[in-house]
Amino acid sequence: MHIGVPAETYSGETRVAATPETVKKLVAGGRHTVSIQAGAGLGASVRDEDFVAAGATIVPSASAAYAADLILKVRRPETAEIGLLKAGSLLVGLLSPHEGVDDLANAGVTAFAMELLPRISRAQAMDVLSSQGNIAGYKAVLVAAYEYGRFMPMLMTAAGTVKAARVLVLGAGVAGLQAVATAKRLGAVIEAFDVRPAVKEQVESLGAKFVEVTLSDEERKAQESAGGYAREMSDDYKRRQAVLIAERAKASDIVITTALIPGRKAPVLLTAETVAGMKPGSVVVDLAVKQGGNCEGSVADQVVVKGGVKLVAPSSLPAAMAADSSALYARNLLSFIGLLFDAKTGELRMDRSDEIIAGTLVCADGATTRS
Ligand code: NAD
Repeated sequence: MHIGVPAETYSGETRVAATPETVKKLVAGGRHTVSIQAGAGLGASVRDEDFVAAGATIVPSASAAYAADLILKVRRPETAEIGLLKAGSLLVGLLSPHEGVDDLANAGVTAFAMELLPRISRAQAMDVLSSQGNIAGYKAVLVAAYEYGRFMPMLMTAAGTVKAARVLVLGAGVAGLQAVATAKRLGAVIEAFDVRPAVKEQVESLGAKFVEVTLSDEERKAQESAGGYAREMSDDYKRRQAVLIAERAKASDIVITTALIPGRKAPVLLTAETVAGMKPGSVVVDLAVKQGGNCEGSVADQVVVKGGVKLVAPSSLPAAMAADSSALYARNLLSFIGLLFDAKTGELRMDRSDEIIAGTLVCADGATTRS
């Protein structure tokens, strides 16, 4: 099959959907050919000649890359690119399916949205939300450390002792747990909170304290039956949670928020009132800003200062570490597209009864596949 990798066009997107490592594997045995748009890897520190050495062909334009039969992308094609899509081709990427996919269906492509990948163990090697969330959690701590006007670790110096920073991590999924681990390496004292009680053990094993809202038996059962993801909680739970978070945030120097509910607006965990009660010099890093934000008043890609508290809301931290985020993302895609081909013959074999394929497929044969 002819695989195409167009350059990303979205403003600030530096990642690329293939790397020399994955190209080498794709072209091995002569099964596939790969066309990369000239310069597509530059943001991720991959030169055209590195792709050529791995066995790819460099093509001069987006239209030449989109002429392939299988298109690998990081972001959903923008409006100007939709016209370049070839009817009958396959498209794989982070396609923002919640924004609607009618334009992709109308273009006649068969498209797979990697954000919809089921969280099952067979899919772990393909899990782009995990690979990119991990990077976001790491980088969020470095952003916080950069914005924070004090040390992270406790230091005993000739000029006296410096206290360790107190870090509160809200949402202890993939990004949150990496934020806990990274803040720990920098010497901070950490607390973490999540609506899923199952993560308590993971938080504690990383050396942080788990902040708990007491759950009723009914609430605990509901949360545990949500298939690994968080559910929208009752108003009463939210009230208890808000009181606890406000109290912990006021005692913290840095708050990193990562709380998401798939397909929904992110929960507001830090209200303007809570921020007003935080110490001047504190830093909030809101990783949920693209889904509406966990912190009232945070603005995407800006540093807003409220009463001496810095609200930072980077909208795409993985793009700030494009070399590693591309390396991991490209490996995720390589694993995923392995499912689309017969392992023996290399022929396209799209088994729509496979839950990974069915779960990610958003349009085929000119129609959307999900309601
Ligand atoms: P996510 O990015 O959707 O959400 C981040 C975190 O926010 C979650 O832990 C969630 O519980 C939490 N959250 C939501 N609402 C909240 C609120 N009001 N207050 C506090 N926290 C709130 O989740 P994710 O990190 O992508 O993954 C969630 C979990 O899925 C993982 O921790 C893991 O258990 C599971 N998972 C499984 C696989 C797999 O088996 N293939 C892969 C990745 C993740």
